[in-house]
Amino acid sequence: MPACHNPLMDPPFVPYPILRAVACTIHANGETRFLADTGPAMTKRITIIGAGIVGIATACYLRRDGHDVTVVDMRPPGEYCSFGNAGILSPGSCVPLATPGILWKVPGYLADPMGPLTVRWSYLPRAMPWLLRFIAASGMERVERIADALRPLLKQTFDAYEPLVKHAGVSDLIRRTGYLVVYPTREAYVGDALAWKLRRDRGVAIEEFGAVEIKRRVPQLAGDYEVGLYLPEQGYCANPERLTKALAAQFVRDGGTLLQRKVFDIEIGADGPRALITGGENVPVETLVVCAGAHSNEFTAKLGDSVPLEAERGYHVTYSDPRVELPLPVFLPEHKFFVTPMEMGLRIAGQTEFAGVNAAPDYARADVLAKHMQRILPGISAADTTKWMGRRPSMPDSMPVIGRATKFANVYYAFGHGHVGLCGGAPTGRIISDLVAGRPPSIDVAPFRVERFS
Ligand SMILES: Cc1cc2nc3c(=O)[nH]c(=O)nc-3n(C[C@H](O)[C@H](O)[C@H](O)COP(=O)(O)OP(=O)(O)OC[C@H]3O[C@@H](n4cnc5c(N)ncnc54)[C@H](O)[C@@H]3O)c2cc1C
Repeated sequence: MPACHNPLMDPPFVPYPILRAVACTIHANGETRFLADTGPAMTKRITIIGAGIVGIATACYLRRDGHDVTVVDMRPPGEYCSFGNAGILSPGSCVPLATPGILWKVPGYLADPMGPLTVRWSYLPRAMPWLLRFIAASGMERVERIADALRPLLKQTFDAYEPLVKHAGVSDLIRRTGYLVVYPTREAYVGDALAWKLRRDRGVAIEEFGAVEIKRRVPQLAGDYEVGLYLPEQGYCANPERLTKALAAQFVRDGGTLLQRKVFDIEIGADGPRALITGGENVPVETLVVCAGAHSNEFTAKLGDSVPLEAERGYHVTYSDPRVELPLPVFLPEHKFFVTPMEMGLRIAGQTEFAGVNAAPDYARADVLAKHMQRILPGISAADTTKWMGRRPSMPDSMPVIGRATKFANVYYAFGHGHVGLCGGAPTGRIISDLVAGRPPSIDVAPFRVERFS
């Protein structure tokens, strides 16, 4: 059987022979017919809700397989959480947020006006069930299992983005510089020993050094730091918004469809969803992928799956003309922010705020980041800055939901990536395309199933 050629793909995109000329048979009236005889019968009509990095990367991988793909979003691509993140691409980010002892750190974080965590007290009762699950996920055995699941998913970060960015002509956005973590004291570093052990045990390369080497590598950084850790296999995206938009534009050039509409509801028949009820004409559905970020639970609830999804809100300040340069991203673990040298300037991003998905931003949180920036890079010019708030789609166990819906075989979920949605976007898209095609995914996806919350 000849290998099929998919005209959408540049030479590096090796087409999957399974799609058109398939060795699969159908039996009708006792007759065996090859699906290849009837044209591209294995390709599907697929609708994706959400044009963030997860939805767009998924759309690219599905289109690459020859499917007829439509992405529906009320915003242009990459204008929600995928717009303003810290840009970090870290295949080694396998440590969940909830680890043993997290509960005892929370009062200190909350009491510190410059700290990384805030809760809008009126929202606390609503957040409580999620927070209780978060704490329940912090036991040692669970943490090891989560790290075991996250590492293979995120290990593919660069590998999964590479064909997409090459095809879209934006390989320049992916920078493999590594990143640097700095601790003011050895005691602070020892306090995080478990997280570093979890990474090292899973093969993440880490180089440790002292104050002199930190100064040599990042002379711009003010303050005294006793311990530095350099993670050479990590990197960053120089503009997460441009990445999402460029992949979306390529998806459209390849024949994919983008519809700018709000999805209000899903019409469900006996076999699953039939149509999306939108602000415009309804969008017919044959196969559905939910990639709606922090709003995904609004759709899973309609599809029969209740998921503990919370908007973990974060902030950034971007300095367009900072007059200071950094050679690589730097992370300050006591305050939990990254400073990243992006193509549009220097960006400081971090903070976790529980206030509900629809509450207005509280830019006092961004001002906290700006104060930190002034402290660590005193020469920085704040003449031209922008502030932003984004909603991380977070599950209490720090693991995304990837896989089929419980009730319907034609519905897939790809959401809940929390702090690592940029890293996880392309790996997730590739996994969803494998599941849709019936190919075995490259990793065990069982830990990511929605059933874990049943
Ligand atoms: C401050 C901050 C820093 C971060 N730093 C990093 C980092 O360095 N590295 C990393 O990997 N991750 C980082 N993240 C996390 C990352 O940004 C997210 O995990 C990721 O963007 C989620 O992508 P998504 O596609 O799932 O969601 P989104 O980008 O939020 O996309 C969801 C889309 O669904 C659409 N949608 C929702 N409801 C509807 C509806 N009813 N109708 C139509 N459309 C709808 C929205 O409009 C949106 O476009 C950071 C996040 C924040 C806030």
